[in-house]
Amino acid sequence: MMRTHTCGELNSQNLGQKAVLCGWVDAKRNHGGVLFINLRDLYGISQVVVNPENPEFRKAESLRNEFVVKVEGKVSKRPQGNENKNMPTGEIELVAEKIEILSACADLPFDLGEYANANEDTRLKYRYLDLRRPKMAKNLVLRGKIAAAVRNYLAKNGFNEVETPILTKSTPEGARDYLVPSRVNPGNFYALPQSPQVFKQILMISGMDRYFQLARNFRDEDLRADRQPEHTQIDLEMSFVDEQDVAAVVEGMMKEVFAGTGENIEVPFPQMEFSDAMLKYGSDKPDPRYDLEFREVSGIFSATGFKVFAEILKNKGSIRAIKAAKTAELYSRSEIDKLTELLKKGGAKGLSWLKLKAGKLDGPAAKFFSEKEATELKERLEAEEGDMVFILADSVENINAYSGLLRTAIIQKTAPPQLKKWAFLWVRHFPLLEKDKESGRWTFTHNPFTAPLAEEAGNLDTDPGSVRSYQYDLVLNGVELGSGSVRNHSKEMQEKIFALMGYSKEEMYFKFPMILNALSYGAPPHGGIGIGFDRLIGIICGTDSIRDVIAFPKTTSGSCLMTESPSKVDERQLKELHLKIIENRE
Ligand code: ASP
Repeated sequence: MMRTHTCGELNSQNLGQKAVLCGWVDAKRNHGGVLFINLRDLYGISQVVVNPENPEFRKAESLRNEFVVKVEGKVSKRPQGNENKNMPTGEIELVAEKIEILSACADLPFDLGEYANANEDTRLKYRYLDLRRPKMAKNLVLRGKIAAAVRNYLAKNGFNEVETPILTKSTPEGARDYLVPSRVNPGNFYALPQSPQVFKQILMISGMDRYFQLARNFRDEDLRADRQPEHTQIDLEMSFVDEQDVAAVVEGMMKEVFAGTGENIEVPFPQMEFSDAMLKYGSDKPDPRYDLEFREVSGIFSATGFKVFAEILKNKGSIRAIKAAKTAELYSRSEIDKLTELLKKGGAKGLSWLKLKAGKLDGPAAKFFSEKEATELKERLEAEEGDMVFILADSVENINAYSGLLRTAIIQKTAPPQLKKWAFLWVRHFPLLEKDKESGRWTFTHNPFTAPLAEEAGNLDTDPGSVRSYQYDLVLNGVELGSGSVRNHSKEMQEKIFALMGYSKEEMYFKFPMILNALSYGAPPHGGIGIGFDRLIGIICGTDSIRDVIAFPKTTSGSCLMTESPSKVDERQLKELHLKIIENRE
């Protein structure tokens, strides 16, 4: 062994012992002729002391940050007053006897100091340096530990880890595919999987019963801060189950994952209908950490003299109100104007507001309300002195589209108390189909393989848009963490849904041959979920950027600055693949 201990290991129990440490020079200072070197590795930092009479002193003096060295010495107690209580190794120092330089380090492109503000592109280009920073290293180590906890839990519960192909056929799951040209089949392409969806269903049909995989998914979408062209998913599928069976497995897994990080989370997670989530929070991924809900108040205004509201109700629209307790003084006229502007960008025509002052509702909208309407509104919202009330009135579709913006803005502005640290939520029974905005055709809301609710499937012929599905999302603190469903195990039902989406028999068998064929040979009822692993780790590590929890991520323009990919390839490679680049084509 090259070293006897790691740099995070030595403490006062080792006093007097000889030790050999290896690591990177994190810092070096000269105090009155004595050199102090902080030696760092993945496990921590140890202080090395080099006295001026040491024959190695000159060598030690030549060390610079990020040199890799091996130090042999004796563990001594730090002089009184020099201890560092914040470090596990803070009571001792290694008095160097021998120093060996294992590697030198060129001038650093950025300062690795924990709080150094290096620009992200530089960090990504020199990712190997960036990952040396303890914060980044900690994230990666935690990621590995959580992956192990997930595998351990699922294996314990009878799940079989099965790898599915990376070179596969394109399956439409809403995003664009990454394509890979086939050399031996000119003109043909593989697609990188958007998810192992079809394979995991086929594994159920093959009798595998419980499958999981920490799977890589590839989606060629426009990237945002929390998206990567490739991301990892805890992907699982189970046979002979309903929604609640899948939920129970996921809850048990999350409980164990969080326990591993020292957090106790409550299970089972609350479940909410999709329609309720939209009504109460204006979002299908609400953040229930805050006690702030819209209430439907249309009933109060059913006979209103206020023309704007009356007109909306006549057209089957909706009036919803939200109360922000004790925040009236935070909302000046200009604040409210800003909020109105924000909502207008989201499609709203306006925003009504009221403040509860001296027992009365006060504000421009108040004069349009009758005494009875005002009292009922106050009661319905349980509004009290100093409360702020906002009212939205619009078509249900419009209100659903922008009411969440209002709730989020109120939370940002008023910072209401957080009811809990970790708010998990199941949002379930999403509509099976929705109209595609461009083509006007029915399309799946989440996943083309999701089954309709048994009791509503009969309405597929008459009113497909009204049919709810066994599609569920797992939401954590307002972030969509996962998505899954109970699938169609009946070929007839799957064909019917494809037909509603406008596919002819021929087209559906061209696009989805393996699943449709396999469904004819005895498919068990099955369901599963895919949980965003990068996002989960990001939330646990407390970072907004999943790039901080992925070892080698890509930028928002999809490039890897370290490997300089994507990159041009040479003519010969293109020729072998039967490809030609057409430059500057409009
Ligand atoms: N294939 C789905 C996804 O990647 C997950 C699932 O329904 O299991 O989002």
